Order: sequence, then structure tokens, then C-alpha cells
Amino acid sequence: MSLSEFNLIERYFTARGVQRDDVALGVGDDCALLRVPEGMELAVSIDALVEGVHYPVGTDAAAVGHKTLAVGLSDLAAMGAEPAWATLALSLPSADEAWLQGFSAGLFSLANRFHVQLVGGDTVRGPLVISMQLHGFVPRGAALRRDGARVGDLIYVTGTPGDAGLGLELAQGKRSGNDADVRYLRARLDRPEPRVAAGRQLRGIASAAIDVSDGLAADLGHILQRSGVGARLELAQLPQSPALQNLLPDAHERWRYALGAGDDYELCFTVPRARRAAVERLCAKLECGCHVIGHVEAEPGLRLYQPDGTLLENARHGFDHFGG
Ligand code: ADP
Ligand code: MG
Repeated sequence: MSLSEFNLIERYFTARGVQRDDVALGVGDDCALLRVPEGMELAVSIDALVEGVHYPVGTDAAAVGHKTLAVGLSDLAAMGAEPAWATLALSLPSADEAWLQGFSAGLFSLANRFHVQLVGGDTVRGPLVISMQLHGFVPRGAALRRDGARVGDLIYVTGTPGDAGLGLELAQGKRSGNDADVRYLRARLDRPEPRVAAGRQLRGIASAAIDVSDGLAADLGHILQRSGVGARLELAQLPQSPALQNLLPDAHERWRYALGAGDDYELCFTVPRARRAAVERLCAKLECGCHVIGHVEAEPGLRLYQPDGTLLENARHGFDHFGG
């Protein structure tokens, strides 16, 4: 892809979108030259997207562009970091102009909203694989890590987890629903909204945080493991979207999606009880909302309590089956 590679980069990825003051040199040289503000730590994360693995075959190119950036922004959000720069490694089977047009439009429209500049990358011919690295800033020592949860902390989640997993089954033709619910759930899968504002405002409030990419139970499990604690969750308090409730009349099935389905890109975080008022104030003003779903306990593992106060036995099996 020598000449066409150059044209392709020039046409779709050069000098598009926001131009930031902290970029001394962007796309076009051997390296980008970037300035990290004084007193900030650089938060870096990379994700690879493979068609048929990370998004359904046939997903609209603009949605793929959106999701490529959204998953990285979600990692920055989970650290409480402010997004700044992105680099993009693209392996493409051919220079498909219609796809590139859609992909780059979806990518830059989200990049502009979060003031992210694409500062470099690499473009090669090969199977379709999209890798994006995100760079953001967080004040020194203020990042939200996975290892800070303490016994007694409250556990919260933003938004309504489970929607994207249901959206995937709709995309695969395994389920059906009314038009409005299908549209909503497909959008939750294809165009996740990274919770950057929530993450930033949780600095100084949350003791630990993670973004939910593999399912709430599994990702909360990472916080618990890294922090050396366990948790009790109240199933009755799991937030559920109207669409999820419409499609799944059975409560057990709703819990299974809310806890086991991946790709939601919500934030799960813990908060010391002394900061409850602060977190409740924040939750009230966040567009995505956030809800308390349980608390941290000393005994390792995750215990799920039903609305009648009894422990849900053998929960593990069901969620493993779903989460793979
Ligand atoms: P090199 O041979 O030094 O790797 P390339 O020819 O691969 O340079 O890339 C030329 C310039 O275009 C570099 O600045 C590189 O960062 C940028 N670039 C290449 N592919 C992309 C892409 N998909 N998105 C953004 N920038 C890219
Ligand atoms: Mg190169």
C-alpha cells in the first residue's frame, strides 16, 4: 500500500478534527511530539478490535469508528483521566473508500466531542484489525485504581448494565423486540458512551474504579481481587433499562444480563461511606445516572442477595456460562 497508503492517510487521518495546543507535531513525521502538562501523569491504554470478535460482522463503519475510540476513552474514564491524544494502527484488506469514509467520520465525531487529537498511527495491508492507543492526563497520585477498595465501601455502577449484551443477541438475530427497544439496545452495543465526565468527577470520591467491558460481576471481581476484599450485591438494586425489562420478563434472566453481559462500558466503583453524600450529589447530576448496588466485605468472593434477602446459590455457574 505505498502510494495509496500515503493518500489514504492524507485523505482520512491527517489534520482532521480538533487541533490541540499540547501537540507540537502531529501526523506526518516519524513521531508525534507531545507535551504533558506540569503535575500530570500520563494515562495510556491500547485496545485491538477484530471484526466478528469485538463487533458483529456487518457493523456500520461509522459505528466501528465510534467504538474504536469509545473503548479507549472508557479506560481513561475508569482511571479518572482527561483524554488528550490517540494513535491508530490499521490493518486493512483493501483501501475500501466507503468504509474508510464511514470509519473516520465516526471516529472524528466522537474525538471532537472529547477534544481528542489523532496524532499518528500506522496503516498496513492485512486482515481487518484496528488498534487504538489512548493517552490522557490525571493529576499526579489522583488516578482511580483497582486496588483501593476497603471493607465497608459502597459499590456503585453508572447507567444500566446488560443492555449491550442484549443488543448483541438482537444483532445476531437470536432475539427480537419492538422497534424502539431494538434501536436503543443496538445503540448501546454499537455506540457506547464513554463515562469520561463521571470518571473525572469521581477523583477524590471513589476508592477504586473499573470500566465494565467483560460483565459487571467479572469486572467488579477484578477490583475485589486487586483490593484483597469481597462483596455483597443486592440484586434488587441492579439498575435496568426499560428496554431490558421489556425484553426479559424473568428477573433471574435480567440479573444474568446485568451481571454477566459484556461491552457496556459503564463504570463500576467503590466509595467510602464517609463520602456518601458527595457521591449521591454527583450521581444526581450525571446524565447516565449511577446507583448503589452493594458494599465491600472482608470475606473474599462475590455474594448475590435476592430481593427477599436470601443468598442466590450457585450463581457462579450461570454467569460463567454467559460471560464465557
Ligand atoms: P513510518 O514509515 O515512519 O512509520 P508512515 O508512512 O507509516 O511512517 O506514516 C506516515 C505518517 O502518517 C506518520 O506520522 C504516522 O504516524 C501517520 N499515520 C500512518 N497511519 C496512520 C493512521 N491510520 N492514522 C493516523 N496517522 C497515521
Ligand atoms: Mg508506518
